[in-house]
Amino acid sequence: MNMLPIVDHPAAARPFVTNPDRAPWHDKALWFVRSKRDKQASSVPEWEYLRSLASQIKTATIANLGDYLTEFERNATALGAVVHWAADAEEHNRIVLKILRDHDTHRIVKSKSMLTEECGLNPFLEANGIDVVDTDLGERIVQLRHETPSHIVLPAIHLKKEEVGETFHEHLGTDEGAADPKYLTEAARGHLRDKFLAGEVGITGVNFAIAETGGFVVCTNEGNADLGASLPNVHIACMGIEKLVPRFEDLAVFLRLLARSATGQPITTYTSHFHGPRDSHSELHIVLVDNGRSRLRQSDAFRDALHCIRCGACMNTCPVYRRSGGHSYRATIPGPIGSVLSPTRDSSKHKSLPFACSLCGSCTDVCPVKIPLHHQLLAWRKEIGNLKLLSYDKRISMKMASLLFRSARLFSFAGWVGRASLKVLPHWATHHRLNTWTIARELPEPPKESFRHWYAKNRK
Ligand code: SF4
Repeated sequence: MNMLPIVDHPAAARPFVTNPDRAPWHDKALWFVRSKRDKQASSVPEWEYLRSLASQIKTATIANLGDYLTEFERNATALGAVVHWAADAEEHNRIVLKILRDHDTHRIVKSKSMLTEECGLNPFLEANGIDVVDTDLGERIVQLRHETPSHIVLPAIHLKKEEVGETFHEHLGTDEGAADPKYLTEAARGHLRDKFLAGEVGITGVNFAIAETGGFVVCTNEGNADLGASLPNVHIACMGIEKLVPRFEDLAVFLRLLARSATGQPITTYTSHFHGPRDSHSELHIVLVDNGRSRLRQSDAFRDALHCIRCGACMNTCPVYRRSGGHSYRATIPGPIGSVLSPTRDSSKHKSLPFACSLCGSCTDVCPVKIPLHHQLLAWRKEIGNLKLLSYDKRISMKMASLLFRSARLFSFAGWVGRASLKVLPHWATHHRLNTWTIARELPEPPKESFRHWYAKNRK
């Protein structure tokens, strides 16, 4: 995919937003998932209590992260796993490659892991002569199309079944024009079975790791992580250091929240627990990755973003994400949480993302771990202003607005001018290419009098 050096979200979103079929269809598909989430959330009477508990557990974990990581390393090592530490994406990739080289591996099967996407593992391994097969169906579809996932839970949600049919026809030799989901799924199943059998090493992500036991959990709906980790003798699990929970009993809180928030299911179909290598002939490597997380932990304003359990609920509910599509964010993690996380890595490159938000607060309402997402997006806008990263036209218009709002007389006069001129101006004078706000909107009828005037008359 063509990556822009500076992400211009409005420009990147334009092809999606202006596509009369795709944007409304994408919007509807994700709203369906959001509605399923609502049904599941309302079926659990203690839902709000669970959210608060999850938030508190995460706050305590991040506050004592060093201790919990050490405890996890000790317990995982006692179970027979080899624990590696990676300061950044580059080191993570080098560690994985070394393990593969040590085993003379040329083919790996990989289950869905946003961390490996974040680290650019696939292109790195491919450049080093390793054949990487993503085994999650959605991930495999985007991999065959040389695209990136557009959603963290539903990587191919931007594609229609007809497009998947075309991709499978081209790569898997399915019938031309076939778009029946059952037929396409069967074709993918056959194709992936061969890849599973040929895989020499299995790579998975980690949903939750438990400090107390040294074990970890991987959640999938297709069982592909289980097969990928069980067939080969070497399993590499890659996890961000924030994926820890302190105790085994904490897991129940997060597992109840995750599936319901992500896809509106009461539980993920496969919740697999790994405690050390499978047997004496097998190896389990766990790569703990920082890649900017410790820096984020130092930030009072954005630290809570580390609580994210990657359920995707904030994306499913976000009116901007639903209409602009995940690729418009030009980031591994799109949507509201992505718009908080991306600028922490490079605020100049991702400066437009905190503005891809209507501040409706829906993301904050649905987040199962209570991250105050829209407050953080607002904080980013302020920060971007402080860093002098706002464009010239935005700076000028904000300065003018500030002048206007600070003076009651000026505000009142501007209102009068606006009401009077809107009555007489022809349509073309307000709706032209320079006024981007009116490209897709009509202006409201101007009121006869100002609110202040109306209030003075009616509320005396
Ligand atoms: S920020 Fe909250 S809602 Fe969004 S993906 Fe993370 S946990 Fe889910």
